[in-house]
Amino acid sequence: MNERIEAVAEQLDLGLPLRHAFAQLGQAFYTEVSPRPLPDPYLVAVNSPLAGDLGLDPALLTSPAGVEAFTGNIPIAGSRPLASVYSGHQFGVWAGQLGDGRAILLGELPTPAGPQELQLKGSGLTPYSRMGDGRAVLRSSIREFLGSEAMWGLGIPTTRALCVTGSDAPVRREEIETAAVVTRVSPSFVRFGHFEHFSAREQYGELARLADDVIDRFYPECRATAKFAGNAYAALLEQVSERTAAMVAQWQAVGFCHGVMNTDNMSILGLTIDYGPFQFLDAFDPGHICNHSDEQGRYAYNKQPNVAYWNLFCLGQALLPLITDQELALAALESYKTVFPRELEARMRAKLGLADAQPEDRELIESILKLLAKDRVDYTIFWRRLSRHIAGEPAETVRDLFLQRVELDDWLARYLQRLGTGGLGSGGRDAAAELMLRTNPKYVLRNHLGELAIRQAKLKDYSGVQDLLTLAHAPFDEHPGHEDKAGFPPDWASHIEISCSS
Ligand code: AMP
Ligand code: MG
Repeated sequence: MNERIEAVAEQLDLGLPLRHAFAQLGQAFYTEVSPRPLPDPYLVAVNSPLAGDLGLDPALLTSPAGVEAFTGNIPIAGSRPLASVYSGHQFGVWAGQLGDGRAILLGELPTPAGPQELQLKGSGLTPYSRMGDGRAVLRSSIREFLGSEAMWGLGIPTTRALCVTGSDAPVRREEIETAAVVTRVSPSFVRFGHFEHFSAREQYGELARLADDVIDRFYPECRATAKFAGNAYAALLEQVSERTAAMVAQWQAVGFCHGVMNTDNMSILGLTIDYGPFQFLDAFDPGHICNHSDEQGRYAYNKQPNVAYWNLFCLGQALLPLITDQELALAALESYKTVFPRELEARMRAKLGLADAQPEDRELIESILKLLAKDRVDYTIFWRRLSRHIAGEPAETVRDLFLQRVELDDWLARYLQRLGTGGLGSGGRDAAAELMLRTNPKYVLRNHLGELAIRQAKLKDYSGVQDLLTLAHAPFDEHPGHEDKAGFPPDWASHIEISCSS
């Protein structure tokens, strides 16, 4: 790509009190590298509520100087740009060294919710770019921006996105596209792959430093536990297993497919990270594969829970030199097998408006999922209509979604009977409806919605992106005037092909 622009020497002082905990790990963990400028950047989208939470003035972000700064064209005062090194298993195969090939960490901001790292993604070549160009295209940057905010709005642990800037600089993918930079925000971008990297190289000093740092900053309780004979690294593995289990349970319950669950795309904090070919299900198809590049279906929707466990196993192996006892490592991983089903059942019960747990609930959940799969019913619309039915609307809106009406009626009867004994307290059905309407979103970021906003954005109209951000932040609200975005996907939606190319 033609990168004619010279870096501007001056700095932009945004008054950000940036700190650098990750950099303090030492040189083995990263390379200092400056973002490479892009010509004539423009603002594509800004997440004003998040800016506010970070203590950033949204007006500064949207100013010409702010746009230059968050494109990487002007250094932000106090930043210390670096790309970190990690390795990982990709599609089940050890891939060796990867690293931030197109992401650059600027530093971290203290916030009331703890330190938040700022990272530019798509800001140019790094020592870890391998065959890549260090860039991200507009299409995938908008998807990451909206995807992460949609997950946040749904209450699912995720990295966040502050803004997207674009440039008309050409970027070659299957066709020529244009460049963009998304600013991501997270307490940490450390992945399972960071641990695998130092473990595979037998750099056990660095491995311990990384694990100690993650424990000190994010899992201090691991030092205090008497569990695992006081082994803090085993406790860390258990904590990460539990957080990952809880996250994947939420993915499954809302119908989210990540698409590329490689170990380098697994957050050590149990956050959804690296939004590539992700998708929220339209029709319920348990074997759905959202990543066009995933020919074997390794990361199909219904494989996600097992893949997460497989990935945790890789993390366990990486931590073994610190844990030292294989039995302890296996015991720490065991927690996944209890936490995942427990969390999933809890999520599914909430979707059904059930406030307490009964032994028959599992069957109730499994049988409706079977029916949804049989008739390929739209997942989001089903749950929302069921919620509205419990809130008082006729059952017809639910029945209309199914071909297997007899089976559905039988299920509905059993479900309503269960609701009646559902431990709902004095609120009864109203309480169930209330729980369901804040558990089952009206709006999810379906592929075709993102696609329409992206087409508009390519014509430099960014209003569609901003509209979807509003819906993403409040997906349980009604949003009159946006009904079209809560409807069935158009026929062409099933032909959208999203691959790893981004
Ligand atoms: P991903 O599949 O996006 O998680 O990327 C896997 C690895 O490839 C990571 O190390 C990325 O930094 C790197 N990568 C992906 N796309 C590019 C690109 N266009 N330029 C440089 N590195 C890239
Ligand atoms: Mg990645």
